[in-house]
Amino acid sequence: MPGQDDEPPPHIPSPDEITRRLSEFLKSNFGDAVTFSSSVMPGFGPGAPKPADEPPATDTPEAEPGDHPIFEFDYHPREIKRHLDRFVIRQDEAKKVLSIAVCDHYNHAKFLRRLEETDPEAARQVEFAKQNVIVAGPTGVGKTYLIKHIADLIGVPFVKADATKFSETGYVGADVDDLVRELVRKADGDVELAEYGIIYIDEVDKIATASNFGGRDVSGRGVQTTLLKLMEETEVTLRNPFDIQSQMQAMFEMTRGKAPTKDSVNTRHILFIVSGAFSGLDKIVNRRLRQGAIGFGAESREIVDETELLTRASTQDFIEFGFEAEFIGRLPVRVVCQPLEAGDLFEIMKNSEGSLIRQYEREFEAFGIRAEFDDDALRRIAELAAAEKTGARGLMTVGEKLLRDFKFELPGTAVTELKIDGALIDDPAASLEKYRAAAAASPGDAKTVADLGAFRRQFFDEHGVQLAFDPEAVVAIGRLAEQRRQSALAVCQDLFRDYQFGLRLIQKNTGQKSFTLPKAAIDDPDRHLSGLVVASYSEFSKESSTSARPPETEPRAIDRDADLPPEPRGEGPDDPPAGSFA
Ligand code: ADP
Repeated sequence: MPGQDDEPPPHIPSPDEITRRLSEFLKSNFGDAVTFSSSVMPGFGPGAPKPADEPPATDTPEAEPGDHPIFEFDYHPREIKRHLDRFVIRQDEAKKVLSIAVCDHYNHAKFLRRLEETDPEAARQVEFAKQNVIVAGPTGVGKTYLIKHIADLIGVPFVKADATKFSETGYVGADVDDLVRELVRKADGDVELAEYGIIYIDEVDKIATASNFGGRDVSGRGVQTTLLKLMEETEVTLRNPFDIQSQMQAMFEMTRGKAPTKDSVNTRHILFIVSGAFSGLDKIVNRRLRQGAIGFGAESREIVDETELLTRASTQDFIEFGFEAEFIGRLPVRVVCQPLEAGDLFEIMKNSEGSLIRQYEREFEAFGIRAEFDDDALRRIAELAAAEKTGARGLMTVGEKLLRDFKFELPGTAVTELKIDGALIDDPAASLEKYRAAAAASPGDAKTVADLGAFRRQFFDEHGVQLAFDPEAVVAIGRLAEQRRQSALAVCQDLFRDYQFGLRLIQKNTGQKSFTLPKAAIDDPDRHLSGLVVASYSEFSKESSTSARPPETEPRAIDRDADLPPEPRGEGPDDPPAGSFA
């Protein structure tokens, strides 16, 4: 406060300092058995506000809920689905069902919030069956991915946990209330926003009490009961009473004279989504359907498809599977995700915005290597991944295994381009050997590689054409540079000074965007380019034979001046010199 600056303030340790001292204290008393984590104490740890940054404690009451908008929900189901379509391949039914459930849930929350402001009593009386959801389906088909993207889109915190974590109802395993506290942490301590969060519990089928295995599983039932309490309406205290760290946080705040903040979270508007594979449920459904069929003597077709059987599961089937009636009754929205086949996995790599392929490309690019996957490779990877039977997770397993050695061996060598094609997938060891041999034979690697990188960038900037070199070409350029006593950059500028004309002509004929140059292109650049151009014409005429459109020009013996597409002006030194390729 102005005027009070003359007196030195009493020393209040910063959260970082307290964190450090507490850690030391706990370690010296309990060893490694107890650790101190800043994550459970908002306001502690790196990045936490320092006491000096905080506004002085005042008597101003805390803002009342409803004083400011928490988040504005204004979506239609179609918009949510459209957003999901960008990332998630297939699962159309799940996208639709989740989009509607989310809209209903948050529209209702919005309605209640408004009503609370005008008529709190009426708001309390409103009956509403919450749209909590069960998503059934095998692993790795996008269940979590869907929900994460919904939460991202609408801007609410999202927490995921496995139901198996709670197997001992909080005594040994985790406390279900921690899920709610985690929501607050994800909302950066904003309790009101956390009250509109999404809690996603996977492997919920594992807490079914599987009566078919004989006897009832008490702990599973216990977890169902505790979860049920959360799914209905309850208040969860922000600080776990058994958590020494939270209690210290409270004390710390009191010593700073902070007014007590809202210290509990109401779960009324938290959306719960549970999921699992529910294997075995299909058999229960099948049995019921067949019994029904006998009764009416009419159902002719026996359903064998597991997904279809799951979509027909009734509340009674879930109860027979091992869920308590009250628990399953709180999960009225049910949808099944489809298993993913090889074709879907191909689509995921090719078209999903979060494609793993982009990630691999970035990883190689960080080592100065341009990795390019062709469709043939993607198709084969998809087939291998499908055989893993772990949905899209199989893509990671297969991709990692295939590329591991390349990622280890190639960085820092002459290899700047990695062409991932069908041959590499079929025999990665042979491909790697080829790259490795080329890299090993390359003199002056690092300098050549750096020069080639510079040349490729320059070529792309000037002509809009992506160039690449296969490893043997890199070696050949290195040798030539040595012989000529020139830099590899100067060698390339000389060898390929007219290449843009031919390459752009090919681009026009075939749409090809990038060109990988082999050793032959270094040995005889003109001849190589001529070959490419001629080939592009035959491809062009194949494609256009149905459309009856004549080629841009006839493939003569490459009369460059006649055949070239117009070159952008102002290229200066790169203007085409006279002469022909031959
Ligand atoms: P689960 O169904 O077991 O919850 P996830 O949603 O966690 O599986 O999927 C694992 C990863 O696989 C996701 O992060 C995503 O990258 C990818 N993935 C899974 N299914 C799809 C899909 N249908 N479309 C696009 N990517 C998917």
